[in-house]
Amino acid sequence: MKTFNIIIFTVIISLCFISCGQKQSSHTEFALGTVCSVTLFEQSEKSIYNEVFSRIREIENLMSVNIPSSDISRVNAAAGTEPVIVHEETFKVIERALYYAEFSGGAFDLTVGPLVSLWGIGKEEQRIPLRQEILDALPLINWRNVELDRQKKSVFLKIKGMSLDLGAIAKGYAADEAVKIIKRGGVKRAIIDLGGNIVVLGEKKDGSLWNVGIQNPDKNRGDVIGFLQLTEKTIVTSGVYERFFEENNQRYHHLFDPSRGYPAKNGLLSVTLITDISMDADALSTALFVLGYEEGKKLIASLPGTEAFFVFEDRSIIMTDGINFTLTDKTFYIKNIL
Ligand code: ADP
Ligand code: MG
Repeated sequence: MKTFNIIIFTVIISLCFISCGQKQSSHTEFALGTVCSVTLFEQSEKSIYNEVFSRIREIENLMSVNIPSSDISRVNAAAGTEPVIVHEETFKVIERALYYAEFSGGAFDLTVGPLVSLWGIGKEEQRIPLRQEILDALPLINWRNVELDRQKKSVFLKIKGMSLDLGAIAKGYAADEAVKIIKRGGVKRAIIDLGGNIVVLGEKKDGSLWNVGIQNPDKNRGDVIGFLQLTEKTIVTSGVYERFFEENNQRYHHLFDPSRGYPAKNGLLSVTLITDISMDADALSTALFVLGYEEGKKLIASLPGTEAFFVFEDRSIIMTDGINFTLTDKTFYIKNIL
């Protein structure tokens, strides 16, 4: 994943800016379990980078399941026992995650933690769980069993063994927070890439739009199928290539169908969301991937200002009509524009 992000970042940067000859600087760190990069095109003040990255760490310290003192770890440890008071912003992200859980009919579900642990995808212990283990985990996956107290800012998981995982939404939130800091610092042209949660601000120096590559889901990381042209938007992809293992010619990836307990399988290779708020795009890209094209299409139709780009196993592409896309890999084809 690390390598991929560095490569895609490099691809984006080099394609966008090679001809511009402009002042730019960038900073990359490993955080939120992935590679996070920020590129500023008009000022390279260290203080902005410092502020952005300490903010990202702050969010990681609150929301990571891998940090035992995080709000999320504390909530998980008290599952079935007692409510836990969390930081206001953790509460806000959980509320938003619950909103998307309901909106997607449970395709996006922040209580997916037990499945994430069971499969261990991307970790050394990754494996296909026994059928019985999946059956045992399923009753623990249900966003309706998350109880919030808005006054106290407390979170209670009703059943012992339940656990939250904000992996499908926290990077988006962090990207939105990074944007705020960058804008406050007076920077108008920038690119933020937190493990594939991309935000592009402003335009190229010559006034043209940024080009953002769509990863070819079955090629080496950094290999794109084409480019989106846009400005002042966030671009977030959920795909089968991000974290997976293969066994018996089957690919097992990290996007779970909460109703079945297995990686979602519905003919899709990736779904990219393009909108204004990265947290929304993050949750929606996961939700749409799990829902699949037919259901996902209906959700998108209800969200004005939100565009979606679907890549299918048969190498077809379907996208909404507000997208400016140039196909470069002709082994894929555009089947339909919604
Ligand atoms: P990535 O993290 O690769 O950018 P996503 O934003 O789609 O991709 O998030 C995937 C992560 O979200 C998984 O690694 C897991 O932690 C969690 N997750 C997996 N399936 C679901 C789901 N159905 N709903 C919510 N979160 C999920
Ligand atoms: Mg997501």
